[in-house]
Amino acid sequence: ISTGTSDTFRHTDIEKRLTSPSHSSVDLESVRFGQTFTDHLLTVEHAEGHGWGRPQIRPFAEGFTIHPASTVLHYGMCCFEGMKAYLGVDGRGRLFRPDMNMQRLHRSSRRLHLADYDPGELLECLKELLRVERQWLPEREGYSLYIRPYMFSSSHSIGISRPTRSTIAVILSPVGPYFATGLTPIKLFLDERNVRAWPGGVGDCKVGSNYAPTILPQTTAQQLHGTPQVLYTMPSKDSSDADAALISESGAMNVFFLLDKEDGSGQQLITPPLDGTILPGVTRDSVLQLARHWWDCDVLEAHITVGALKRAAAEGRLREIFGCGTACIVQPIDGLVRADGQVLAAPFDASSITSMTARMTRALTDIQYARVPSDWSVPF
Ligand code: PMP
Repeated sequence: ISTGTSDTFRHTDIEKRLTSPSHSSVDLESVRFGQTFTDHLLTVEHAEGHGWGRPQIRPFAEGFTIHPASTVLHYGMCCFEGMKAYLGVDGRGRLFRPDMNMQRLHRSSRRLHLADYDPGELLECLKELLRVERQWLPEREGYSLYIRPYMFSSSHSIGISRPTRSTIAVILSPVGPYFATGLTPIKLFLDERNVRAWPGGVGDCKVGSNYAPTILPQTTAQQLHGTPQVLYTMPSKDSSDADAALISESGAMNVFFLLDKEDGSGQQLITPPLDGTILPGVTRDSVLQLARHWWDCDVLEAHITVGALKRAAAEGRLREIFGCGTACIVQPIDGLVRADGQVLAAPFDASSITSMTARMTRALTDIQYARVPSDWSVPF
């Protein structure tokens, strides 16, 4: 996954300053998603005129200092990734398609004009951090070590200008299931007012500024409708027609619909296309590849209108909805709640192991925990 840039840090230059481990094994009962961190972090810094420093693996507790005028703090110049390390049934630590995350972080950082680097080198640094923190890898199915690589502008100035200093960091956090409900279905609030991303914007990059404005709609939806996440839509050009709005994605998941076709000739699995407003999810791509390989329904990347979903739900053709992403892997969704309280229902039968949702969950986790051999699972 090298981009060929010569101006990069190298994993062979890593400097390590290690502290004694605070745990011999992780107490999974006390782990809340993303609240516990391991003993070390990785940092690497770039300054214009000096180039990249050496990657450092050092005690997490030291943190790092950041200049109060760093432009990440006022202009939100940052991007990030979300990945997981799994303990395979073969006893090896494993990553899931990590090259895709490294390339996406690189693309996001280029969009923010942060310093260039070789994403293949970052992957090797990250693997070294994981080897140092090996004892933090949870041994229980459903648990993993969440990996949060991020990059930000540490330039300190008031002007809105090109970053001249960049910092990359990687932190690790043992995690269990993302939603407190586990694999039981949730409902999403179908937000027909707030827009997450728009044509010509940066919806296809994992930049911090895509996430900060989603907290208020998500919290409001939770309070009013009890839905843990929002499904965003994109109004049509003729905004008077609410049914013409396009389904987009959720705050941290891509979304899939399994529909009976109108002509009764089978089923289709459909997800919005990568038109620049959708985050190209690693899990989304994996779901598409698996479903295409299975050959038992049409698999489409196509725009879906709110109206088409309403019609399918009313006609009983909306079979399954699921969200997918690194954090939740596959999340069954049994309905979309609209502002007026109306629900577009997709009755998910959690007991049915033949459902697409259940089969997909199984297929992905079989690869992640190495029950099934696959190039997608990369040992470290
Ligand atoms: N959409 C958004 C907006 C996200 O933040 C994420 C999480 N990265 C996803 C989709 C799922 O992407 P992935 O499968 O790569 O985790």
